[in-house]
Amino acid sequence: MEWILSNGEIVKEQDLEISKEDRGYQFGDGIYEVIRVYEGDLFTATEHIDRFYQSAEKIRITVPYTKDVFHKMLHDLVEMNSIDNGQVYVQITRGAAERNHQFPVNVEPVVVGYTKSVERPVAFMEQGVKATLIEDVRWLRCDIKSLNLLGNVMAKQQAYEEGYFEAVLHRGDTVTEGSSSNMYGIKDGVVYTHPATNLILNGITRRVILEICEEFGIKVVEEPFTKQQALEMDEFFMSSTTTEVMPVVEISGHTIGNGTPGKMTRKLQQAFEARIKLGVIS
Ligand SMILES: *Cc1c(COP(=O)(O)O)cnc(C)c1O
Repeated sequence: MEWILSNGEIVKEQDLEISKEDRGYQFGDGIYEVIRVYEGDLFTATEHIDRFYQSAEKIRITVPYTKDVFHKMLHDLVEMNSIDNGQVYVQITRGAAERNHQFPVNVEPVVVGYTKSVERPVAFMEQGVKATLIEDVRWLRCDIKSLNLLGNVMAKQQAYEEGYFEAVLHRGDTVTEGSSSNMYGIKDGVVYTHPATNLILNGITRRVILEICEEFGIKVVEEPFTKQQALEMDEFFMSSTTTEVMPVVEISGHTIGNGTPGKMTRKLQQAFEARIKLGVIS
């Protein structure tokens, strides 16, 4: 049996009730987080919880608990479902009310969270994946981890249908990020990635990677780079909570480097692994 987080309580899955007029369904009016669980521990939970509150605040939803209480709920959920290696998905919507675009009054937000066992994609991490350039047609508040994911979903589906693991999104000439990941190129020992502006979601994994680079004295340039520059990088990789540091060895049919994960990418993967085990970040 599975336990679900529902509005501050942990309930049996069959007791979860969602309204037909939940604004999450009708407007995508809400935000979410995915947090990784390693050996029963929530990885970088504080950072994910902070971002959950920040995303909610940006769309003027107030999370009805303190961060500490929320953290404990997620921790209890993981424990009750006996998740060893997996993830927590949690979302908050503006609530359920008669359908009108403007915010409803006196309506409580709806929080739902659940867990899932997930293995690390080790084979992909060792061999690298292929990605393809797709125009980024999303809105201009990509810094919010919004439930509105149509732009992301359409891009990912196109990539999938063409046999690619992920979409490398670009606005005109500028590479922004992936459909559910951040993107990085390495040229002459320097790591390039789009700055954390409104055009990308500033990944928690991204922040860990940039910390690792600083620790190792690897130069990072947080500046936009072009599609053409992406194809000419020595190494390329993507990152997210579930894919960690994932080498990209081909972009739109162009081989990156020699078509295998690059040396620096491997080094970053190893350093990331060390963090998971050490649990340096709470
Ligand atoms: C969640 C997400 C990421 C990755 O963020 P992590 O915190 O590292 O999981 C990157 N881009 C988009 C669009 C996302 O939704």
